[in-house]
Amino acid sequence: MKTKFEELNISPEILRAVQDMGFEEATPIQSQSIEIVKSGRDVLGQSQTGTGKTAAFGIPTLELVDQEDRCLQALVLCPTRELAIQVSEEFRKLLKYKDGLRVLPIYGGQPIERQILALRKGVQIVIGTPGRVMDHMRRRTLKMETVKIVVLDEADEMLDMGFREDIEDILQKIPIGHQTVLFSATMPKEILELTHEYLNDPVFVRVTRKELTVPSIDQVYFEVREHNKMEALSRMLDLHTPELCLVFCNTKRKVDELVEKLQSRGYFAEGLHGDLKQTQRDSVMKKFRNRTLEILVATDVAARGIDVDDIDIVVNYDLPQDEEQYIHRIGRTGRAGRSGTAFTFIVGREIYKLRDIMRYTNAKIIRQKLPTMSDIEDVKIKRFIEQLKETIQEERLTKYINIVENMVSDDYDTLDIAAALLKLSLQDDEEHESYDDINERPFRERSSREIRDNRDGRNGRNGRESRLSRETRDFGNRDRNDRDRGDRYPKYNRDTERLFVNVGKNHRVRPQDIVGAIANEAGVPGRIIGSIDIYDDFTFVDVPGGYVDDIIIKMRHATFKGTKMNIERAKDRRR
Ligand code: ADP
Ligand code: MG
Repeated sequence: MKTKFEELNISPEILRAVQDMGFEEATPIQSQSIEIVKSGRDVLGQSQTGTGKTAAFGIPTLELVDQEDRCLQALVLCPTRELAIQVSEEFRKLLKYKDGLRVLPIYGGQPIERQILALRKGVQIVIGTPGRVMDHMRRRTLKMETVKIVVLDEADEMLDMGFREDIEDILQKIPIGHQTVLFSATMPKEILELTHEYLNDPVFVRVTRKELTVPSIDQVYFEVREHNKMEALSRMLDLHTPELCLVFCNTKRKVDELVEKLQSRGYFAEGLHGDLKQTQRDSVMKKFRNRTLEILVATDVAARGIDVDDIDIVVNYDLPQDEEQYIHRIGRTGRAGRSGTAFTFIVGREIYKLRDIMRYTNAKIIRQKLPTMSDIEDVKIKRFIEQLKETIQEERLTKYINIVENMVSDDYDTLDIAAALLKLSLQDDEEHESYDDINERPFRERSSREIRDNRDGRNGRNGRESRLSRETRDFGNRDRNDRDRGDRYPKYNRDTERLFVNVGKNHRVRPQDIVGAIANEAGVPGRIIGSIDIYDDFTFVDVPGGYVDDIIIKMRHATFKGTKMNIERAKDRRR
């Protein structure tokens, strides 16, 4: 039933890019739409949010555009500026190995002159909001005569936002004979009207939901920020100390990244995904079965073959694509009549998708707060005291009793001795006042202002100062790889990521140029920038993981001495 991208007649360049993006299999809407859209037919595509509709129309659209021709060939309409940017980011990733294709997002709020200049250079693919696209059409800075394909993305949202007239205006002005593709999560009457009017004998591709039953598993979700997921996961692991825990990520790359982070925090974790050789997979599975491994991080595809019965906890580190996948994942625990728990992390708007999952599976997924450091400390003390009691019961203490007796005869109080020993045993855990509460307030309760601020990478509430100072200190300690299992809470957050920048010694770039460029263009404090390694043609820069997306997005147009700077995540994160 699942389809590999290789089976979808995609060009080798795009296939390679899809692999780099870490997608292992096509989602249902992708496997059903890609070839039809590529064939030139008009398509009406429906599947719920988060099911990969962007690539479903993006891949075939990019295949249809002629690299040799500089004129406008594809127009994608999106409801908001954020979505226009997101879609162009995804297009750019898909285009990684295709030269000569230019994508430009255009939306209101950005100076129109700048867009006009960019359009003049020759752009084959425009991704824009209807209002701004109309504006350019009127000015004749966007010429529709050569457009081969028009995509209406998130059509239901565009209609909700009152863009119907603009959309119709645009569609009427594009010469007949072009292909029209419409994607939407829902199919209200208005969409069917539009379809009827503007699509020519469309193929209706619809991904329906299956009836699903949920096994009896405790299901809990936590609202966190993306960059706090790792911290949240370690707290859950430390609180529950599962013997076998299965963690799901949506991409292979995320699996690798998470495994590396877990290992550096001292957990016995390994990853499982489609890129591993059979022998590697076997070896990982063997370790998991015989408990030398406590955490297995996997993609959905890789996890399909797992036949381990007593997994205590399943963690959805990333929210699954759809409810079917959710059921599959959590069904890995609570097997054979045992009890099991499933934790799901959600970020911002994902709450809506989670609600869909709950609705269609009838699952009760309960919101909980992440444990604070003092909750974990309490649990650790309880656990320690249990061990203490057991040790006393075992009675083989003569040697130690003698030591204590010596101290008592030196006038020390037994109660003081015991308390001091306890303090020494638990001390590591006491120095954690720097750890913030990483719970997010429920998305729906947050004001739009706050949400906007968060999205822009500005920090409203959760104490940016302390997070920053922690991350700054982190840089001095980054290389200390503390594997002491008693100290699972490293003193600093080591969530550092490495960026690749396409300028180096040959461009006469200096470290201060890099710091300056990132600080000015991306608006992040210069002091968060870590080590900078300048090579002949490129540079590596370390920055706290939480800033990476922001920096990449904001530096899309940055230049250094006339060279366009290209910043992306470094491929090999090991040094
Ligand atoms: P939609 O438009 O249906 O809401 P998106 O296209 O925004 O969904 O995709 C949601 C997320 O899923 C994105 O982060 C995207 O990169 C990811 N994604 C898309 N296709 C796949 C796939 N085949 N495998 C894994 N992740 C995918
Ligand atoms: Mg979408």
